[in-house]
Amino acid sequence: MLKSPAEFTLLSQTSLEADFDDTTVLRLCFRNAELLVSESGTQPVATLSAISGAAVVVGRWNSQLIAVERVEIDALVPEGSRWAGLRSLFGVMPDDLVAIAGRACQIADWDRTHRYCGVCATPTTREANERARRCPACGHTAYPRISPAMMCLVTRDDEILLARNVNFPAGRYSALAGFLEAGESIEDAVHREVEEEVGIKVSNLRYFSSQSWPFPHSLMIAFTAEYAGGALTPNGHEIAEASWFDADNLPQLPPRISIARALIDDTLTRFRAR
Ligand SMILES: [Zn+2]
Repeated sequence: MLKSPAEFTLLSQTSLEADFDDTTVLRLCFRNAELLVSESGTQPVATLSAISGAAVVVGRWNSQLIAVERVEIDALVPEGSRWAGLRSLFGVMPDDLVAIAGRACQIADWDRTHRYCGVCATPTTREANERARRCPACGHTAYPRISPAMMCLVTRDDEILLARNVNFPAGRYSALAGFLEAGESIEDAVHREVEEEVGIKVSNLRYFSSQSWPFPHSLMIAFTAEYAGGALTPNGHEIAEASWFDADNLPQLPPRISIARALIDDTLTRFRAR
């Protein structure tokens, strides 16, 4: 699963100009959602073209300070480096680094999109001691946006329900997922989304785990649930196909770094142990 390493610590001071005693700074450089990486994709690369004042501290990893910087869309990049979306780095860049880059990407995007107050349009400033941007005119404060989403693997005896989202690559299936609506509990969202997407009822929700998913700022909260009735009816606009599968008859699954895959693998392992 995509998970920050245990040695990573969050830092709430947000400006690189603050007094840090770290000897090295790892600068992750983003052009919108793309990270500057070595040609092989295994390492991030810093550039001198970063926008002045755009660096934000993310945290500390071992003895390194992690900072994220933004560049203009047409910035020149060092020879032997290239831009890469984070998904394309799964299995290429070490998982620890991909997870930290996923944090950095969300922070950079929040910093970029909250430069002006959403209430009165005054330029905002970074707060010194918490990750927030505040309006000096009206006091409106903006924190990084995190969008919770439910994920649910529905089971029926020894089978699991896997669905193909209309946006998935051909042949790829996964557990059901969907964003929470304002005012909903996560359990409400599971029941509503499962019914909206494939037309069935579920019961016995069990929490599995959660995972930050930086595309662009989701928190996936995963459950298993048992089939409780209704005819399997993919809604067509989100879900193209949905079917019951057993462990010996699986379609193409999501990548190992995703919580969806961990949820599927864990459930099948439990089935085999019964
Ligand atoms: Zn304001």
